[in-house]
Amino acid sequence: MSAGRVYFVGAGPGDPGLMTVRALELVAGADVILYDRLIPADALAGARPGAELRYVGKEGGGPSVAQEEIERAMIAHAREGKTVVRLKGGDPFVFGRGGEEALALVAEGIAFEVVPGVTAGVAAAAYAGIPVTHRGLASAVALVTAHEDPTKDEHSIDWEALARFPGTLVFYMGVRQLERLAQRLIGAGRPPSQPAAIVERGTLPGQRTVIATLETLAERAAAEAVRAPAITIVGDVAGLAEQLAWRERGVLAARTVVVTRARAQAGSMSSRLRALGAQVVEAPAIRIVARTVAVPALAEFDMLCLTSANGVELLFARLAEQGLDARALAGVRVAAIGSGTASALLGHGVIADFVPERFVAEGLLEALEGVDVRRALVARAADARDVLVDGLRARGAEVEVLALYDTVAEVLDAATSDALAAADYVTFTSASTVRFLLDQAAPGPQARLVSIGPITSAALRERGLEPHVEAERHDIDGLVTALVADATSQP
Ligand code: SAH
Repeated sequence: MSAGRVYFVGAGPGDPGLMTVRALELVAGADVILYDRLIPADALAGARPGAELRYVGKEGGGPSVAQEEIERAMIAHAREGKTVVRLKGGDPFVFGRGGEEALALVAEGIAFEVVPGVTAGVAAAAYAGIPVTHRGLASAVALVTAHEDPTKDEHSIDWEALARFPGTLVFYMGVRQLERLAQRLIGAGRPPSQPAAIVERGTLPGQRTVIATLETLAERAAAEAVRAPAITIVGDVAGLAEQLAWRERGVLAARTVVVTRARAQAGSMSSRLRALGAQVVEAPAIRIVARTVAVPALAEFDMLCLTSANGVELLFARLAEQGLDARALAGVRVAAIGSGTASALLGHGVIADFVPERFVAEGLLEALEGVDVRRALVARAADARDVLVDGLRARGAEVEVLALYDTVAEVLDAATSDALAAADYVTFTSASTVRFLLDQAAPGPQARLVSIGPITSAALRERGLEPHVEAERHDIDGLVTALVADATSQP
C-alpha cells in the first residue's frame, strides 16, 4: 500500500469565507480530518460522507487530546495510505504547533504539505479596521504569543526588546494576562498613551473591539468582559480603527438563534443567519432516516406530488439505485408543496408544474383544484399528514403513497440544551422539529418562538406554547425575513 500524505491546512480565523480554495478542496478530498477548536463553523461541511472527522482540540487551555496522540494518529493514518488533513485555525505555522507536528512526520519519513491560512492576528485587526502596517505609523509588525508556558521561567518573552520594537505588536492568546502585559511593556518603556486595541471573536458573528491606550486597555477590556479568543494590538495603527472600522454589526447582532432542522439541512439556514450577525446554535431535533423502497413505474401515474426537499433527494437516490434518472419523470406532471421542494427538483433538472402560493398541503390541494388527476403518486415522509392524499382521493383520484423516509428524534447533548435555554430565538421549520425538540428540552422564558407556518404553529400550541412569530411565506426565506422583522422591532 502506498503511503498517505498529511496536509497541514489553515482554516482561517473563523469567517467561513476566509478559508482558502485549497483548504476547501483538501477538506473535500480527505479520508481523515483531525481538527482543532477554532475552525470556522462550516469548515467540515464539504467533507466526504464517509470521512473520519476527529476533534483533537484543546478546551480552555487544557489538553483534551495529548500532542503525542495527535502525532501518533497522523502517522498511523498516513501509514494506512490515507489522505490526512490536519485542520487548524488561522495559519498552521503561526502559533499552531504545525511546525512541531511536521517535524514528527519528518522523523517518520512521511510526506506532507502545508496550506497557509489567513492568520487571526492580521484578520481580526483588519475586520476591526486596523491595518497592521501603515505608512508613517508602522513599518514593521511582530506576532507575539502573550501566553507564557507556566513550566518555563518568565524570561521567555524579552519585554525590553518588544517595547523597543519599531512597529505594531500583535499578541495572540493571553486575554487573562492583559494587565500584566501592559505593565511589562510600559515598564520597559513603551508609551502608556500609545493606542491599543483588543478584538474578541475577530471575523466571527459577535466580533467586538475595545479601543483604548496601552495604559487603559486592560481595565476597559475587563469592564466589557472581553474573553478568548481575542487578539491584542499595540501600536499607533490601533488608533485608525476609529475611522476605518467598516464592519456592519448586522441586524441580528447580539442575538442567539437556535436552528432545529436536521443537521444535514441546517447549514444553509445557519449561514444566512450568521451573515446577518446572529450567533447560531444548531440543535437538530430530528434526523432523516431513508427507507429502502422501490419507486414504482412513474409512467403509470399522471401526477407526482412531492412534499419536501428531503423527499426529492431521496426519490432521486432511489431512482438512481434502479438505474434511472430524471427521464423517469418524463410525461408525468410534478407538483411541489413549496419553494424549497421546487428548488430541490430544479437541482435535478425538473421544473415543477404546480407550486402553490401557500406552502402547505392545503395550498397544494387548492392549486390542483380543477386539474384532472386520475392516478397520483405522493412521495413523502412516512409520518406526513394525510391532507393531500385524502383530498385527492375525495376528488376521485387513485392515490399511492411512497414513504421514502422516517423522521426520528436526534438526541441533544447537555451543552446544546443549555444553549437552547438561554437563546433569544428558537426557530421551528416543521411540526416534527417542535415535537422532537420539546420532548427533550425547553426554550427559556425569554425566548421568542418562530414558526415557519400554520401547521408548525399548531404543533407548538398543542404543547401549550404560543409562537411569537409566524412566517408569512412558509419557507426558510420567509422564516428568516419574519425573524429579522421581529428582531428589528424588539429592543
Ligand atoms: N494558528 C492560529 C493561532 C492559534 S493560537 C492563527 O494563525 O490564527 C490561538 C489564538 O489565536 C487565540 O488565543 C487568539 O488569540 C487567536 N485567535 C484565533 N482565532 C481568533 C479570532 N477569531 N479572533 C481573535 N483571536 C483569535
